[in-house]
Amino acid sequence: MTTNNNAFFIGGEWHAPASSGVITVVSPNDEQVVGHTPDGAEPDMDAAVDAARRAFDDPTGWSQWEPARRAQALGRLADALDKRAPEMVQAVSSQNGMPVAVAEKLEAVFPQVLLRYYAGLIENDSFEETRPGLLGGSTLVTKTPIGVVGAIVPWNFPQALAAFKYAPALAAGCTIVIKPSPETVLDSYVLAEAVEEAALPAGVINIVPGGRELGAYLVSHPGIDKVAFTGSSTAGRNIAEACGRLLRPVTLELGGKSAAIILDDANLDLATVGEQLFGATMLNNGQVCYLGTRILAPQSRYQEVVDTFSALAGSLTVGSSLDPATMIGPMASARQRDRVESYIAKGRGEGARITVGGGRPADLEKGWFVEPTIFADVDNNYTIAQEEIFGPVLSIISYRDDEDAVRIANDSDFGLGGTVFTADHDHGVAVARRIQTGTVGINGYLPDPTAPFGGVKASGLGRELGPEALSAYLVPKSIYL
Ligand code: NAD
Repeated sequence: MTTNNNAFFIGGEWHAPASSGVITVVSPNDEQVVGHTPDGAEPDMDAAVDAARRAFDDPTGWSQWEPARRAQALGRLADALDKRAPEMVQAVSSQNGMPVAVAEKLEAVFPQVLLRYYAGLIENDSFEETRPGLLGGSTLVTKTPIGVVGAIVPWNFPQALAAFKYAPALAAGCTIVIKPSPETVLDSYVLAEAVEEAALPAGVINIVPGGRELGAYLVSHPGIDKVAFTGSSTAGRNIAEACGRLLRPVTLELGGKSAAIILDDANLDLATVGEQLFGATMLNNGQVCYLGTRILAPQSRYQEVVDTFSALAGSLTVGSSLDPATMIGPMASARQRDRVESYIAKGRGEGARITVGGGRPADLEKGWFVEPTIFADVDNNYTIAQEEIFGPVLSIISYRDDEDAVRIANDSDFGLGGTVFTADHDHGVAVARRIQTGTVGINGYLPDPTAPFGGVKASGLGRELGPEALSAYLVPKSIYL
């Protein structure tokens, strides 16, 4: 691992930690220790916010640079991350159990895609325009960076979800303090070293790993101007309350329980659509917020849908996340496995029928593995259909007609993702339009950097990605001329 992970990256330097607390990272594959970092304490967070504040307030600094100059710096950071892609894959996969095949496509690539995308969006943007008025004069509308951002990220996609925040924030001219999740801290050192190599001005990106108390401290810190959070709805509500009291702008990307609607004409041939069905429902060991974990199946093809998903789940290679052949790795933590297993027990208790899985893989003695599990005969009111499980567990629910499918899809506290599988593109889009959700895919699901990403209802507030995310880090000001 890296040489610097006995310190914090604050103000462009490696700072000795204020306390002797240690975060120990344990491999979900074999339960062996894979690394240590210091555990951030309040004085470390104070130093990080202070460094970000000074960098932001510098009258000739980052926030005042021409956008084209910032765009070049974002490009340098993307280049430095490119060089570290293999190291990043190893760091992420060994900590959270993400199959390396997924980490190679997403964690080691998506941040650079975002940095280059936002660099492209700003390089020719003057961040102001003059609008002719309706009452005689005109208005100069300027957009200035919102200030110092406090970013809190979860363990499931630690690098991509950090980049969802820092790429648009930095492009806008903000500075940032990132608090990674204690489960995934080693990768944040790879990012810090890339920032160092890219020679971003001191204090533009600061990283202090720590637990939820440190996150709460960052959220309410007087030096923070905006909070960007990805994580559970429970934590999101606490953060929203704190930000509400402070009238502090906040973006919340929270949990989900999305519907994958199989329309009656959908292709269910696993040889042709298996990858899309898998990607939309069980990617990253089922630990993705947007997955369609409620499979809505037409009554007329119910058994076929159950057979298809049972065959799919039964065919997945389960094993160490570091094995390139693995499709389902372990749960990220023992706590997470316990949680998934408790939902499997609840599903059984509620009367749902397990067609495949339901236990731990017999051949894997160590590690926090759960078999890919399919529940048939699920009623949408069951706990397993209403609460986020965050594991490779799908519930198959029968519907009568399109109207019924839309009703069931929308009968959820959440509204983040979703998919519609159909042979008729226009029909799919028509159904997708009726789903109360922030994002939805047709015959597959892959968030695109250019399109806004986020949720409705308990899935969150605000949007990341796309030009919308850049706007979220800018404050418009009207100067009436
Ligand atoms: P979590 O909410 O427990 O923790 C997320 C992060 O927030 C961690 O860094 C944690 O230390 C910190 N935190 C927790 N409570 C906090 C508080 N009160 N104040 C400030 N910080 C706090 O979530 P998790 O278990 O790490 O991640 C899984 C959850 O994240 C799932 O619910 C999943 O759906 C959600 N998620 C959402 C998205 C999305 O874009 N909508 C993406 C990925 C994950």
